[in-house]
Amino acid sequence: MLTAQNTITWLDKFGDAIEKNKAYLSDLDTPIGDGDHGNNMARGLTAVKAALADKDDADLTTVFKTIAMALISKVGGASGPLYGTAFLEMAKASKAGTTDLPTLLAAALAGIEKRGGAEAGDKTMIDVWTPVLAAVQAGNLTQAVIDDAVESTKPMIAKKGRASYLGERSVGHLDPGAVSSGYLFTALLEVEAN
Ligand code: ADP
Ligand code: MG
Ligand code: MG
Repeated sequence: MLTAQNTITWLDKFGDAIEKNKAYLSDLDTPIGDGDHGNNMARGLTAVKAALADKDDADLTTVFKTIAMALISKVGGASGPLYGTAFLEMAKASKAGTTDLPTLLAAALAGIEKRGGAEAGDKTMIDVWTPVLAAVQAGNLTQAVIDDAVESTKPMIAKKGRASYLGERSVGHLDPGAVSSGYLFTALLEVEAN
């Protein structure tokens, strides 16, 4: 179950992982994109941290909405609106009364799919979100599930986003948004919300 407090801790840990791996994420984005994913995400997570700083007493919906707005306005690039939509959909679901992690993540993934029009196998963050959601629903999310999902993007041909301009030349590279989503879910494991 997610609460305002463990969600703030979750994003704090995610922000730390992004900051630590900023250069790596931008390096991953260089051969199959425009080399900015780490910088985009770091800018966004810095904004999330600042926006959450005075939200200690906020409810879960407000926390999700605050995260979403910071990501949408500050990340820039394709990933900003997609991560932002994920948190906006969780805000909506929580407002409707749920704190249940599988339900919240299902709403988030549906939002990403609707917003970006990609599906599993297209070599995007969705290739991490989909197996992670299935594992959370089954009650057995582990680091190995996350790592396998991230690795699964390597042999894929990109069908959406900048990497799709490369067609078959995108094969053999990890998708940067899949790697950053991996960090998001590793951080989630660390807060033991499931
Ligand atoms: P940009 O490509 O605009 O520079 P980023 O580099 O920040 O944006 O983010 C790229 C990541 O966004 C990709 O690695 C991929 O995971 C994700 N992405 C791009 N387009 C889509 C889409 N339509 N659906 C889902 N994820 C996408
Ligand atoms: Mg990029
Ligand atoms: Mg860009």
